[in-house]
Amino acid sequence: MEKLTVTIATCFILCSVLLLPPSPNIFNRLKSNLTTTGSYDSKKPREKLLGGGLLATELDDESCLSRYHQASLRKPSPHKPSAYLVSKLRSYEKLHKRCGPGSDAYKSATEKLGLKPGNGSESVGECRYIVWVPYSGLANRIISLVSVFLYALLTERVILVDQRSGISDLFCEPFPATSWLLPRNFPLLGGKKRDRFFDRSNSHCYGTMLRNSAPNLTETSLPSYLYLYLISDYSDDDKMFFCEEDQKTFIGEVPWLVVNSNIYFVPSLWLIPSFQTELIKMFPEKETVFHHLSRYLLHPTNQVWGLVTRSYDAYLSRADERLGIQVRVFDRHAGYLQHVMDQIVACTQREKLLPELSTQVTNTSRSKRLLKVVLVTSLHPEYSVKLKRMFWEQPTSTGESIEVYQPSEERVQQTDKKLHDQKALAEVYLLSLTDNIVTTARSTFGYFAHSLGGLRPWILYKPVNRTAPDPPCVKAVSMEPCFHRPPLYGCQAKTIEITPFVMTCEDSNPGLKLVDAPE
Ligand code: GDP
Repeated sequence: MEKLTVTIATCFILCSVLLLPPSPNIFNRLKSNLTTTGSYDSKKPREKLLGGGLLATELDDESCLSRYHQASLRKPSPHKPSAYLVSKLRSYEKLHKRCGPGSDAYKSATEKLGLKPGNGSESVGECRYIVWVPYSGLANRIISLVSVFLYALLTERVILVDQRSGISDLFCEPFPATSWLLPRNFPLLGGKKRDRFFDRSNSHCYGTMLRNSAPNLTETSLPSYLYLYLISDYSDDDKMFFCEEDQKTFIGEVPWLVVNSNIYFVPSLWLIPSFQTELIKMFPEKETVFHHLSRYLLHPTNQVWGLVTRSYDAYLSRADERLGIQVRVFDRHAGYLQHVMDQIVACTQREKLLPELSTQVTNTSRSKRLLKVVLVTSLHPEYSVKLKRMFWEQPTSTGESIEVYQPSEERVQQTDKKLHDQKALAEVYLLSLTDNIVTTARSTFGYFAHSLGGLRPWILYKPVNRTAPDPPCVKAVSMEPCFHRPPLYGCQAKTIEITPFVMTCEDSNPGLKLVDAPE
């Protein structure tokens, strides 16, 4: 296995070196690890990622090149993780190792899943679990995964991810000497049982339990597992998950939680009083939750990282400045929309992200001319084609050279198709490597990219009546993703009103997002 990964890494490096022009990039740094015989010298010290040591140090970086090499493509982040967050992660890694798949604790905990309440099903020692099952498109999945991971950190549960969604084609294992993949023979989700499990009428579904009758909170009736339905169309009963009382007296005691989710529910975790104290210590800078956790948890596989670095080297590395424009048209039947194009141009020029066009040729000498590369991501190619044409046909008023690049043009969403999802992920990472970013309102694809990159985006407002809105876009006050469907009226209603660090999202009302300095 080790040999195979070294071979893949070596091939990966050599192929890229041969195919691409030399540039001050990851491969040049990697090349310095190549010995004279061309083999990969794994003993040479490699750049370790992330100020503050967020990453686990025991992980092997050859089977997952992105883990340590990502830092060399990024500007140093001004946002440092707190020492408390680092210590929480180190303790979490130990817990995961003790309780993860293959451990005696895991075996014993899964055996107890079949037992009836009161027969010992509730006693699993220190190991309690939360299983994440994704729903919707890639970025919806990821924002929910990060939310579930934060919940696991807060409640000292072990996170396990359902692997049927192809997560291992996208990301490397994040924790040392263990696995985060839920074994395929996990009793609750095997074979035909699986579909029935996710039916909301499942009597273990927390919202359904509440709807049928309040669960009996005596210890003997604690179930061995609960199903949590945290999907955008969830009911008020499902939203009781966010109530302190429900967490303390019931949910927190259940050994296994299985959560199906597509939402970024982090802001509502901050509104649970007993979690808030801990969260303030973990994230003194509130808008950095997704930023830090995504960089800790998510490391693209070598295949995805190849897509990222090949694009980066060929198109982005030479730029003096990089602008990302993420165009998402939610209407499945619409591809190119002229008003969206007008809006992109209006926003980028008004915010001075791109120069105006000129009728006169400016006299800047070639060597002094700044090169700005615009990375466009969209299912549709027309936006980048038009932008490219615009800057080719006329000079810019500033004399800057503008290059436009779009990596893929998939046309339609094909979630769960391996290469499609890998391209989508690679594009998110490429967007996160830009200096400024323009995103589409309500798109989690954009949230993932800007938050990972540590960028506050310019958000293109949702067009009304097929016309470009005026103003066309707004600069976000926080780099956090928006929680589109927060529980506004239940147990958290009052807290939302008096909490200064949550605000209505710029692109979604009644969405909520975390901010440091409310405006
Ligand atoms: P959202 O729907 O914008 O919130 O983002 P999701 O990621 O949840 O779902 C959209 C899906 O459509 C992505 O995961 C991709 O599969 C596809 N998609 C949308 N925009 C792009 C894009 O710019 N590039 C690529 N490669 N795929 C995209």
